[in-house]
Amino acid sequence: MDRNTHSPFFTETNYVIAGPCSAESREQVLRTAQQIADLKKVQAYRAGVWKPRTRPGGFEGLGAKALPWLQEVQETFRMPVAIEVAQPEHIEAALQHDLAFFWIGARTTANPFSVQEIAEALRGVPCKVLIKNPIHPDLQLWVGAIERILNSNIKQVAAIHRGFYTSTQNTFRNTPLWQIPIELKVLFPELPILCDPSHISGRKDLVFDIAQNALDIGMNGLMIETHTNPSEALSDKAQQITPFELYELLNRLQLKEKASNNPSFNELLAFVRKNIDNIDTELISLLKERMAWVERIAQKKQENHITAFQLERWKEIVETRSQWAGEQSLNPDFIETLFRLIHEEAIRVQINHTAHTDAEKNQSIKKS
Ligand code: PEP
Ligand code: MN
Repeated sequence: MDRNTHSPFFTETNYVIAGPCSAESREQVLRTAQQIADLKKVQAYRAGVWKPRTRPGGFEGLGAKALPWLQEVQETFRMPVAIEVAQPEHIEAALQHDLAFFWIGARTTANPFSVQEIAEALRGVPCKVLIKNPIHPDLQLWVGAIERILNSNIKQVAAIHRGFYTSTQNTFRNTPLWQIPIELKVLFPELPILCDPSHISGRKDLVFDIAQNALDIGMNGLMIETHTNPSEALSDKAQQITPFELYELLNRLQLKEKASNNPSFNELLAFVRKNIDNIDTELISLLKERMAWVERIAQKKQENHITAFQLERWKEIVETRSQWAGEQSLNPDFIETLFRLIHEEAIRVQINHTAHTDAEKNQSIKKS
C-alpha cells in the first residue's frame, strides 16, 4: 500500500483517531477495527504495541508480533494505523509492515536523546508523526521535541495534548492545562493540535466533556481510546469506551467554527471586545496606582529597616482577596493566583528599591 494514499491527515479538521490502548490479540484488533470502521466517523485507527510502563511487571504490549494484525487493519479497512514508537528499532519493525503513522508518547517526549534518535530514524521516511506533550507541564520540552522532528524534514506533524502531571490531586488522571497547548499554537500557528481526552480523564465518564472542551478552544481533532470490551482490557480499562459509545459521543459533540460570517454576531463581538478593552485599560491604570503605593511603602520600610516580606500581611492578602472574590461570585482560586502574582511583583519592586537606594548610598559615600 502506498503510504501517501492515506486520507490527508493534516488538512482535515475534527480528525478522529480511535482504537484500543493496546493491541491484545489479532481477534481484538480486527473486531475493534471493524466496529470502528462501520461508524464511518473515524479517520484513523490506533493501538499501542510497545507500552511504556512506569514499573516493570505490567502489560508491556505484545511488541512486533502485533504488527501484521495492524497491517491487516490498514489493508482491510483502508484506515491508516497509528502506533507509539519510542526507539529506532520500533520504527524499523513498523516500516517492514507498511506502518508509517507514529506517535511519540508523553514519557518519550520528555527525553531529548530518545526524540533525537527517533527523528534520525525517520529522516527521509514519508510518514506522519504525532507528538504528545511531555508528562510535566514544560512547554519548551514539547517545543524541542517538535523541532527535532521538523528538523528531520518530516512534513506531516501534529501535536497531541494528553494532559499533564500536576502535584495536586484532582479529578483528572492528567490535568488538562489548556494554556500550554494554546501557547504552543501561538508559537506554531500552522501545527495541528489534537486532544487525547482518554489519557486526560482516566475515566470514561469524563471523556465527552474534555473532548468538547478541546473542540471549544479550536483543537483540530481527537484521539480516543476505544475497546470492544473495556472491562477486560489489558491496559487503561477505566478510560476506554466501546465503539458504540464512541459513536454516541461523536454525535453529541458540537463542532465549532473559527469565525462567523453573520454580520450582527460580528458586530456584537466587536462591541463586547471594545468593552473588555476599556476594562483592561482601567485594570492596568489601577495596577499602576497600586504599584505607586508599593513604592511608597518600600521607601518607608527602608527608612525604618523593616523587611519587604511580611508574613502576616501576605496571609491576610491571600485570605481576604479570595473571600472578596467569593462574595462577588468570582472564582476564589483565580483571584488567589492573580494576587500571588501581584504580590510577587510588589516584593520584587520593594527589593529593587532597597538595592537601588543602597547603590545610591555607596555612590555618595565614595564621592565624599
Ligand atoms: C497511549 O496513548 O496509550 C499512551 C501510553 O499515552 P501517553 O504517552 O499519553 O501516556
Ligand atoms: Mn492508554
